[in-house]
Amino acid sequence: MPKRFNWQLDREMDYPYAAPPPKRQVAYIFDTNKCIACQTCTVACKTAWTSGKGEETIFWNNVETKPYGGYPVGWDLNLLKQEQPARWNGQQLTSLTIFESDKPGQPPRGHRPLPEDYAHPNLGEDDITGLAELGAHFEGTHPMWMFYLARICNHCAHPACLAACPRKAVYKREQDGIVLVDQERCRGYQECIKACPYKKVFYNIISRASQKCIGCYPRVEEGNVAFCVESCIGKIRMHGFITPEGPPREDNPVDYIVRVKKLALPLYPQFGTSPNVYYVPPIHVPDPFLEQIFGPGVEASKNLYRNLAADQKLLGALLLFGASPRMLTRYEVKGDQAIGYDVDDKEAVRVPFTEPVYQRPHRDQRHEVYRHNTA
Ligand code: SF4
Ligand code: SF4
Ligand code: SF4
Repeated sequence: MPKRFNWQLDREMDYPYAAPPPKRQVAYIFDTNKCIACQTCTVACKTAWTSGKGEETIFWNNVETKPYGGYPVGWDLNLLKQEQPARWNGQQLTSLTIFESDKPGQPPRGHRPLPEDYAHPNLGEDDITGLAELGAHFEGTHPMWMFYLARICNHCAHPACLAACPRKAVYKREQDGIVLVDQERCRGYQECIKACPYKKVFYNIISRASQKCIGCYPRVEEGNVAFCVESCIGKIRMHGFITPEGPPREDNPVDYIVRVKKLALPLYPQFGTSPNVYYVPPIHVPDPFLEQIFGPGVEASKNLYRNLAADQKLLGALLLFGASPRMLTRYEVKGDQAIGYDVDDKEAVRVPFTEPVYQRPHRDQRHEVYRHNTA
């Protein structure tokens, strides 16, 4: 059984598929504190990639409301019920991953959602954890809460979908770590759907093949961010490359936020697939719930986020979210500006820490008119 070091679990783990890691790895960071569930990302992806026949209930990008929402319905609850609860000793996982809890060398047993589980992509939207009683008021902690969780394929470092495919139709690209399904090789056995803990592979009933987020690879090849990232209204997303092994680069905004400062955390790291979408946890949500989803780094991450004003370098990296259609592979903070550089190391964007304010004079001398604040 090949062993792989999983830095998210701070230990080696079994992984039933021997393949060299990619030369570099795409990664995304989503700041859950800023998502407004407008679903622009969902629609951008849908219109770009999955508007064909058999794709009516396929959403490679979805945004669900936690704690009750989930697409497909119960995607995470069903797996949590099936597996042992995660146990951590500090940052190290002491319980078993999905690759270790069944027979050695076998792909994870997983579970396959029912067709009706895909029928209501936003079930539970905006549902909160309790009722707001008459006279309730804010006392420093939120007695009831919810938050929005945007989800795409994690282009995992140890993909369960790939490990499970009997046809070897799922593969991970060497140049960027994007995970794809070869539509010619796929015979629709759906083992990948069963194995993926995030349920981010979908079955097309017309083409009779499995389909999944393609990581917008034609855009990545040009150095541009994915459609779901560029279209994000709330500017909650960053799309770049992470250094998966060895020391992280302090001037790479993704490395800095994820690996150096550990502000953004992986989704259900205990499953062991090493997902590459990282989340800044919502600071208003109680820790026990968040620790189940994002692992043991939640409290430290929330403290960092609350004190961002004291950390110019980290704040500068966050200012680059949604600031450029280019993937940013390097950044620096100079004076009161965060500057992002693209894959060709050309300056792509400058963002000021404080938005400049321009005041126009009341009288426009050129046109000899007064300006009024009325339409
Ligand atoms: S576009 Fe951005 S803000 Fe809107 S739902 Fe998607 S991730 Fe959230
Ligand atoms: S999220 Fe699922 S579909 Fe995507 S790479 Fe990981 S295991 Fe595969
Ligand atoms: S990366 Fe591209 S294909 Fe994947 S969810 Fe986003 S828009 Fe869709």
